[in-house]
Amino acid sequence: MGESLSKGYYFQQDVQEVPRTPPHTPTPVCGGSPWSMESDVTTPMWSAATGVDTVIIFDWDDTLLCSSAINNQSWSPQQLQQLERAVETILHTAMALGETMIVTNGNATWVQDSTRRFFPGLAKTLSRLTVISARASFESSFPGDPFAWKRQCFKEILARRRQEGGNYLGGVNLVVLGDSPAEIEAAQSAVKVLHGKSVVKTLKFKEAPTVNELLGQLRRVLQELGSLVSEERAGNKTLVPRSFPAHLDHLSSWASGWRISEQESWDYSRVAATLLVGA
Ligand SMILES: [Mg+2]
Repeated sequence: MGESLSKGYYFQQDVQEVPRTPPHTPTPVCGGSPWSMESDVTTPMWSAATGVDTVIIFDWDDTLLCSSAINNQSWSPQQLQQLERAVETILHTAMALGETMIVTNGNATWVQDSTRRFFPGLAKTLSRLTVISARASFESSFPGDPFAWKRQCFKEILARRRQEGGNYLGGVNLVVLGDSPAEIEAAQSAVKVLHGKSVVKTLKFKEAPTVNELLGQLRRVLQELGSLVSEERAGNKTLVPRSFPAHLDHLSSWASGWRISEQESWDYSRVAATLLVGA
């Protein structure tokens, strides 16, 4: 049994019930994280080879960190170590494929704080990434609207790349991975500020996964990330668990316990609208 999160932390689904973050200087969208100040990001090999500006954006809670399992106190130190290794592997893989970022709706220091506490071995890897709190940047402009925080954050990331770009004339190859409707909807909105032959691809994770489920999803994504990045068509895909008898439930932590579905693609606009009106 694990320990629960302290009350200072919150997740997107709790956003209406938690204390607001203390006043702070608005976080710049790019290079906004204290970690990103130490960034030694270089042009990823894949992007350099193809001339395509590949940007890979991960959500944090229930996409890399098993936040629901931690909240439910249903994790073990051994599981967290396995997950930490899986997260490190997938981030390194992503970094070789494109510029890799983490965009969270947690508060300004949530990724750092939770990493220190639950994934201490991951700090060095994260120091090489841009980590952005969409909430810290946009909550004051859009109070109580986590969809807008991510939507605006994605738009600014991409608009800035467009302004500062120049190396890449072929547009942006945007890959977004996360469990929440917020990042999927934000990715779709980002299309409006993209240019040229830009393409947006999303992969939706299961919401509120167990640690084993998150492990299985990340292991599956590890196998598929290269294909997802090089896919030329836009699309919204979903990770779907395979059905197992109860005594084989542990297979949910295996890559083969998950498949990536296009047919069961997730209707982000319908769910987003439902959530926004509180239905
Ligand atoms: Mg999430």
